[in-house]
Amino acid sequence: MKNCLTVCQIRMNELIIIFIGVNLILIITIATKVFLGKNQLKISKGAEMNTFHEYQKEAIKTSNKMTEKEHYVLNGILGLNGESGELADVLKKHLFQGHELDQEKLIEELGDVLWYCALMAHGLGFDLSDVAHKNILKLRKRYGEKFSVDKSINRKEK
Ligand SMILES: [Mg+2]
Repeated sequence: MKNCLTVCQIRMNELIIIFIGVNLILIITIATKVFLGKNQLKISKGAEMNTFHEYQKEAIKTSNKMTEKEHYVLNGILGLNGESGELADVLKKHLFQGHELDQEKLIEELGDVLWYCALMAHGLGFDLSDVAHKNILKLRKRYGEKFSVDKSINRKEK
């Protein structure tokens, strides 16, 4: 029974890391589309960071301190779902309610998603840069250096 629980916990950790990776891809995809857009964002100076590691350290400073590491994970999962919904709402308003695509709001919500990714990675005892690295390795294994519809449809790791 104990071995089963350990295996389940390991599988759960793998699923959580994949979940964080998917959200990082979402972040990168939206950020790329926004930054490639014609509007420039107004980002004030004062909190520049060059790595996920630096970001995670700063993000954790602003989190509610929890006694159990698992609580960071749970808070992260719930927060990611909430913030992903807020991101989707910005897009929904643009696509179906006649709103301009609010790039400032997208970036704000994207940051909120990233914050919960950092919280979750912290709870799992991982550096966010390790999560990003693992995700890119997985994608390179799937696509090589370039996306292809065929490789997406015919995934080997299904
Ligand atoms: Mg938000």
